[in-house]
Amino acid sequence: MKTATDALVIKEMRMGEADRLITLLTKDSGIIKAYASGAKNIKSKRGSATGLLSYSNFSLSKKGDTYRVTEATPIKLFFGTNSDIETLAISQYFCELCLVFEPNDENAEEFLRLILNSLYFLTEKKKNAFLIKAITELRIAAISGYCPSLVACGECGTFEDDIMYFNIVNGALFCSKCNEDTSNIPLNKTLMNAMRHIVYSQFKDLYSFLVPDGDAKILSDITEKYIVFQTDHKFTTLKFLNDVR
Ligand SMILES: [Zn+2]
Repeated sequence: MKTATDALVIKEMRMGEADRLITLLTKDSGIIKAYASGAKNIKSKRGSATGLLSYSNFSLSKKGDTYRVTEATPIKLFFGTNSDIETLAISQYFCELCLVFEPNDENAEEFLRLILNSLYFLTEKKKNAFLIKAITELRIAAISGYCPSLVACGECGTFEDDIMYFNIVNGALFCSKCNEDTSNIPLNKTLMNAMRHIVYSQFKDLYSFLVPDGDAKILSDITEKYIVFQTDHKFTTLKFLNDVR
């Protein structure tokens, strides 16, 4: 059976001399694995089209459960010369997020759109890298069944307070009067508004807000804690990121 799809390469593994097994994030089928044969012999055009962080149009043939790449044309390559080590580390972390959250038929399209936009803003350096990381982490959580409840204080329903408190264990919010757990994370209004925007905004508005660089780093630490706790996964790419920054 033959099929064509646009997909992002989120993992590659060498298989012997010339073959590679690549993992693709597709719009329609979520994550699939496909063999890219003869990487040594095929033209460089297809070689880069099947490399890590390439967004390409793939022609695939399917036999049983095995996909094979028959043709690949690059649409956008994110593994560019523009990539410093921090950008690369965050890009690879985005790929690991895809592998861990395993988008399915239902949310794969939204997932792919999110990752592609985040990679674009990240590699074009249009925004603070840690703000892009925070947006990606929290929005992935929101579309994958790990959506925190950020509308109001979970106890009394207060919407606004100078400081709100976030519990990463159950994704709940508390106002300063109701907060009893000292391990809850304090959020100033900038952080609170940013988190609400990331979770509740329409996709077209998702990236159109700014926070000061200092707050972007704090925000990124909070969303990372939430992701790591909720998934109970040791991200190897996060270790890499924390080593290089
Ligand atoms: Zn309250």
